[in-house]
Amino acid sequence: MKRVNSFQRFMNRRASANCRYQPTCYEHAANCYTHALLIVPAFVGMTLLHRLSDNNWEKITAWVYGMGLCALFLVSTVFHIITWKKSHMRSVEHCFHMCDRVVIYFFIAASYTPWLNLRELGPLAAHMRWFVWLMAAAGTIYVFNYHEKYKLVELAFYLTMGFFPASVVTSMSNTEGLHELACGGLIYCLGVFFFKSDGVIPFAHAIWHVFVALAAAVHYYAIWKYLYKAPSADTLLDS
Ligand SMILES: [Zn+2]
Repeated sequence: MKRVNSFQRFMNRRASANCRYQPTCYEHAANCYTHALLIVPAFVGMTLLHRLSDNNWEKITAWVYGMGLCALFLVSTVFHIITWKKSHMRSVEHCFHMCDRVVIYFFIAASYTPWLNLRELGPLAAHMRWFVWLMAAAGTIYVFNYHEKYKLVELAFYLTMGFFPASVVTSMSNTEGLHELACGGLIYCLGVFFFKSDGVIPFAHAIWHVFVALAAAVHYYAIWKYLYKAPSADTLLDS
């Protein structure tokens, strides 16, 4: 019994339907640190890709992808800090919670952008370059209208947006990096189990953050290795 009590110190009760789980102060701290520690590495990563760029298109792509990466960790950290400090302005907390959700849609679009911009795509597949951003915009409209109302619908939206562009990426003639891409996708999916386990597993949300960080790192590695570090087609033609 004593063990159960000490264990429960780290976790509150599961929230009822359509209510938000209230983390313990330990969980709040873990939620903040797990993403705050990644803001600087994300910025450094963005700068590195920019420096490795051989042309303007690669540079723009590096900024877009890097901004998505930085925004994800930054917005998440600010939201978790505001929630932790129990902001007296509930509307501010509500606003940042929506931003925290919206940034995920844009992060998914940004994560696909290097593959869609820098790899050769068929004429139909090339439309995915703008379609991912349209999906992110649709997700944003959904969040502003139905935030926290239909949690499973929201999850289905994230998974659709996460996997639908993969149908284009996996059909590319150049398949280098697809293993890493799939590996990162699998890590995100495994993390969803913890995303849905608030009040069941202590530190579930922080564990979800770690899965996000790992998956993002695997995807970054693939983008760095196969799209930026390797000489681009332009460079090969020039030499
Ligand atoms: Zn979070």
